[in-house]
Amino acid sequence: MDRRTFFGMLAAGTAGLSATAPELGAQTVSAKKFVVVGGGMAGATCAKYLAMWAKRSGMTVDVTLVDENARYVSCIMSNKVVTGERTLASLTYGYDTLSSKFGLRFVNAGVTSVDAVNKTVALSTSETLSYDRLILAPGIQFDYSTVSITATGLTDEQARDAVPHAWKAGPQTDTLRNQLVALTAGEHVIVTVPKSPYRCPPGPYERVCVIADWLKKNKAGSRVIVLDANAGIQAEKVNFGNAFTTVHANIDYFPNAAVASVSFDAASPSVKTVTLVAPAAQVNPVTNVASVTTQSSFTAAVVNLLPQMKGGQIMLDTLAGVEGAIVGGRWAKVNELSYETLVPGVHVIGDSIASKQPKAGHIGNQQGKVCADAILRLESGLQPYPAPVTNSACYTPITSSTATWLTAIFAYNAVAGEMQVAPPGVIEAPEGPTSQAYSEMGEWFGELMADTFA
Ligand SMILES: Cc1cc2nc3c(=O)[nH]c(=O)nc-3n(C[C@H](O)[C@H](O)[C@H](O)COP(=O)(O)OP(=O)(O)OC[C@H]3O[C@@H](n4cnc5c(N)ncnc54)[C@H](O)[C@@H]3O)c2cc1C
Repeated sequence: MDRRTFFGMLAAGTAGLSATAPELGAQTVSAKKFVVVGGGMAGATCAKYLAMWAKRSGMTVDVTLVDENARYVSCIMSNKVVTGERTLASLTYGYDTLSSKFGLRFVNAGVTSVDAVNKTVALSTSETLSYDRLILAPGIQFDYSTVSITATGLTDEQARDAVPHAWKAGPQTDTLRNQLVALTAGEHVIVTVPKSPYRCPPGPYERVCVIADWLKKNKAGSRVIVLDANAGIQAEKVNFGNAFTTVHANIDYFPNAAVASVSFDAASPSVKTVTLVAPAAQVNPVTNVASVTTQSSFTAAVVNLLPQMKGGQIMLDTLAGVEGAIVGGRWAKVNELSYETLVPGVHVIGDSIASKQPKAGHIGNQQGKVCADAILRLESGLQPYPAPVTNSACYTPITSSTATWLTAIFAYNAVAGEMQVAPPGVIEAPEGPTSQAYSEMGEWFGELMADTFA
């Protein structure tokens, strides 16, 4: 398969999934109630395809999509908000089209609890919804328990906001942007990378590249210091390694650099001190050669702190107390044929699950379809499709005019009972960053978001 064909399939959202579009015409489901919690990349797609495929198959279903926010702001492309090339408004999507086109109901409310025995969910509006199947797609939450953030003159919450993660697109994305703009030339920026697994494996390195590019053009002498809690770059090793060393000469990369604390005085916010759990050496990510000196404390004016991550709280609360339902205290254990958890009738998709598939929006979109298909089959007395295939494509801007790309295919391995990387495996752009990939990036993003929200 050439790259054009591959991307064509991705754009249509069909790679490996065409076989899963249900052909259940003769089976009738009488107004089964499906409640989807979280209208992000995974949840919105699942709700849309549940409603659309049920209708095409002559089924009567009642699909309700619930999100605590009235509109969704995409994390994908939000690094370009940090560099001032896009606005959050341009990344904002509503639910009107999904409602009018596919007949699903959107409810703007937070889900506060789930009663998996009586099959109901309680909303922040005091409404209660009953369900036959519940799909939880709440994304991630941040775990600050391993890092101490103290700022003289600020509350704990203010101190955290002053070292923004900007890893859920929203106010913190603008904060990070404003902090970069306010930087005095020559002052530095620290970007921390949490222990894997975290949302969007290439994302932090993409952010490092676009910030480094922006600093070169706008803040002479400023550098990006990357403190990576992992042993090395987690995705697109070759392209990011080259970008860190060759394309951008203003990046210092420290692997095995887990952050223990951040401290500063609100009266002098341009001096923020980041201390590591253990001293780390700077490493050239292309040659892997480490410098002999190690360092445990760094100072910068801007600290973009990405804390450790875990699945959404509503998922953790719903699965709590069921032995083996939560992996490592963070992620939902799911059957990757249907995304059903160990709690019958409760499915989890997207970033909240434990999986070899990456925590990525493109994958969340794919999981939404596989889950929708499996649910419609199960409710029709059939078994889930036994050989699902998903794919992930990701374009990563390296500068304001060039990008690289990464693709991966995952297939269900019946022996291992999980989705695993399948041939041709994980491929990163062999040609490195190009302007052509940069323009393809816009096309890919537009098609992915249309497949999810329209
Ligand atoms: C900077 C950055 C760049 C990225 N770039 C890419 C990329 O190029 N390609 C890619 O594929 N992925 C990318 N990603 C990753 C992608 O954004 C996520 O993997 C994806 O959004 C996960 O989808 P999700 O549905 O699991 O969660 P989300 O999209 O976060 O959706 C979760 C939804 O659940 C709602 N919610 C949570 N709890 C509740 C509750 N109790 N009640 C009601 N609603 C609730 C939230 O409001 C939210 O709308 C990037 C991420 C970042 C941060």
